[in-house]
Amino acid sequence: MPCIPCLDAMGLSDQQRHEMPVELMPKTVGDLLDGGVSDTRCEQGHEEKFAINLPLFEIMFEASSLAILDSYQREAVLGLTTSIECFREFYVCEVLRRLSVDTDTYAEARKGFKLAERQMGAFLACHALVMKKAFDTRPLDRFAKLRNDVAHEGRIPTRDEAIDYGRVALAELHGLLLGLFPSPYEFTSTSDIFRAHMTAASRVAGVLGGRKATSLGMMPTMIGFGAPSTWGQGTFDGRLKVLAKHRQSFYPVGGEQ
Ligand SMILES: [Zn+2]
Repeated sequence: MPCIPCLDAMGLSDQQRHEMPVELMPKTVGDLLDGGVSDTRCEQGHEEKFAINLPLFEIMFEASSLAILDSYQREAVLGLTTSIECFREFYVCEVLRRLSVDTDTYAEARKGFKLAERQMGAFLACHALVMKKAFDTRPLDRFAKLRNDVAHEGRIPTRDEAIDYGRVALAELHGLLLGLFPSPYEFTSTSDIFRAHMTAASRVAGVLGGRKATSLGMMPTMIGFGAPSTWGQGTFDGRLKVLAKHRQSFYPVGGEQ
């Protein structure tokens, strides 16, 4: 992530800042915390709290893709599974939001479908409601044994297995997102969808013990939900190559602590 105080100190215009190649940006390093917050420090000692404005499923997918690049294939498969589950929650939530169901009612209803199978049922019903057809579960069902073996038997999958799962997961998520948002959605901090689903700074204040976070805007990601120019385009393999290329710029690792 870029260090905002270092960027400010460079005295660039908005345009210069916007056009700055990512590899030249001053970087800041930190762990990703619960709620999409990152507690970071740059080489100059600037400490920042970032709230990453992405839906949880997108953060999970990104972390899983980084795990593939870093050869943690077990973590990749587990993370992709979590991303898909978070996505189903997002989908149900978005469909209910469109039906003017308020968030308190949703939170109450959600207590009933925390279990994965119940959540799946809610998702399938919402999909039928919106798309007027049943969701084909077969592509992802193909990975049920892999998921179970990895989660419950301690199996370590191969890179090919993790990539295969990632390819299908991304194609499924992109297909479902395009069904919900047929044209690129221009996210702004005032849009309904942004407010409902993003891990915006104001919503994660609790994670930081009430301290304010700097809100980090849209980042180019594997799913690319907040990137209208590439909306719904690209394959898992192509996007993974881009991620590998920019890996050190966007997600520098901290080294020795
Ligand atoms: Zn700095």
